[in-house]
Amino acid sequence: MAKVLIIGAGGVGGVVTHKCAQVADVFEEIVLASRTEEKCKQIAAQLKRPIETAQVDADSVPELVALIERVKPDLVINVALPYQDLTIMDACLETGVHYMDTANYEPLDTAKFEYKWQWAYQEKFEKAGLMALLGSGFDPGATNVFTAYLAKHYFDEIENLDIIDVNGGDHGYPFATNFNPEINIREVTAECRHWENGAFVETPAMSLKQSFTCPEGVGEYNIYRMYHEELESLTKHYPSLKKAQFWMSFGDSYLKHLEVLGNVGMTGIEPVEFNGQQIVPIQFLKTLLPDPSTLGPRTKGRTCIGCVVRGTYQGKPRTVYIYNICDHEACYAEVQSQAISYTTGVPAMIGAKMMLEGKWMKPGVWNIEQMDPDPFMEAMNQYGLPWTVIDEPGFDLV
Ligand code: NDP
Repeated sequence: MAKVLIIGAGGVGGVVTHKCAQVADVFEEIVLASRTEEKCKQIAAQLKRPIETAQVDADSVPELVALIERVKPDLVINVALPYQDLTIMDACLETGVHYMDTANYEPLDTAKFEYKWQWAYQEKFEKAGLMALLGSGFDPGATNVFTAYLAKHYFDEIENLDIIDVNGGDHGYPFATNFNPEINIREVTAECRHWENGAFVETPAMSLKQSFTCPEGVGEYNIYRMYHEELESLTKHYPSLKKAQFWMSFGDSYLKHLEVLGNVGMTGIEPVEFNGQQIVPIQFLKTLLPDPSTLGPRTKGRTCIGCVVRGTYQGKPRTVYIYNICDHEACYAEVQSQAISYTTGVPAMIGAKMMLEGKWMKPGVWNIEQMDPDPFMEAMNQYGLPWTVIDEPGFDLV
């Protein structure tokens, strides 16, 4: 029995709150806080059991400390934006509370997400006897656990990792992002980096694509190589990896819009002056785009996210594919949200559950693949993200 403070009432925050509310024997009390309390109240009104809501500016450590001291949670689940990771970690240290998130820290003025800032908290958390679990969403999150699970049960050594994230969903808009537009566009337009022979290799964004046929009739999609944060922690924790790549599907309409918006400067993160006021183009663009949390009722189709791992087992080469398929409409029926928020929010609830039940309780700052994957994998099957393993899938990936 525990009390959690969830910070962030966006698409992911809504799902985490729904899923925690469903597991009342672990999450006895829930407080949902965000910059706009009205959004917390809207989520609270969808639930079958009462929760508390609060207003907080998570950029302010004193405000966070005051809230945490009043609420007295056992764990803070951070599903606000990556910009708030460090302030929330600082507030957790000051108040002696465990921490968890789904995305690594990114400074507002540099579109560069790296673990170094959060890894630097290792000693502070360890000394305080507190745990910080990093990246408990889907990717990062479930994909890291998938890798750890295959490394543990299917291989003696893993050498090659391809994470493949396909969204076969359609929301009917010519251009919209499935999670926070600012974070999504910063991620997609960033220079591509993949791991090869002991170092990250940089290539222009979206410069390599291939076709991928998803299992179970989800369909065939163009997937593009891009950088994703779990590559940094997985290549650190699995030094036997010779090559690691991340691939994501994009539709032609999405890419066409992104190219034009980029060409005219609308995806820029530097402030520009407009009518005597400083505005950041990408933040202005966000105000024009559909709010991802409103895509739920319109999105049809399925996601298919998984890992292809190659390596050796008992002296022979082996290839294994592990994946989850998630249906947008089924997610909406359950928690009033589309599958991108769902596939992030469910692993966040599961990571929190692992910590609160003591299955994953260890002082320090940890990436999710450093924990035992088995109880998490079992919980994925139980709480809405069942997975499948195909031994020797016969893929021919680049
Ligand atoms: P949204 O933009 O929908 O929601 C973010 C929420 O955080 C909003 O409610 C927003 O408040 C709140 N917020 C922003 N700044 C502050 C602040 N200073 N203080 C308090 N609250 C604040 O984003 P998503 O729900 O789509 O994403 C949430 C997180 O999940 C992000 O970090 C994202 O990177 C991560 N993510 C991880 C994935 C994974 O698989 N690992 C996949 C998808 C997302 P307001 O409503 O006022 O704007």
